[in-house]
Amino acid sequence: MPTRLIIRCSSCGKRISPSNILQVSFYYRLLGQSFVSIKYKCPRCRRLGEYVVGEKQWNTSLLLSSGGELTLKELEKFNKMEKITPEEMLDFHLHLQESENWIKELVK
Ligand SMILES: [Zn+2]
Repeated sequence: MPTRLIIRCSSCGKRISPSNILQVSFYYRLLGQSFVSIKYKCPRCRRLGEYVVGEKQWNTSLLLSSGGELTLKELEKFNKMEKITPEEMLDFHLHLQESENWIKELVK
């Protein structure tokens, strides 16, 4: 669980700790921003709540908290990169269809 992501109860403001989180759901959208929904049960008021965070924010907090494999420099680099376009996705599929060895060739 990310430690940098601070979630507070929407009813009483109590800080929610990872052990209070019941469910994390990822919502991927082809168009527009993907997001993550975090359902929690408040340890103080016992109410159920939901916290929604943008996918990018979630990923960053995960990476920062875990120490991860990525360096800060790499994170900056990836953040500056353009999103993968539908055209690139299509190209990728076509390459896969053309040759089964395509991936093997790529990682040689
Ligand atoms: Zn509460």
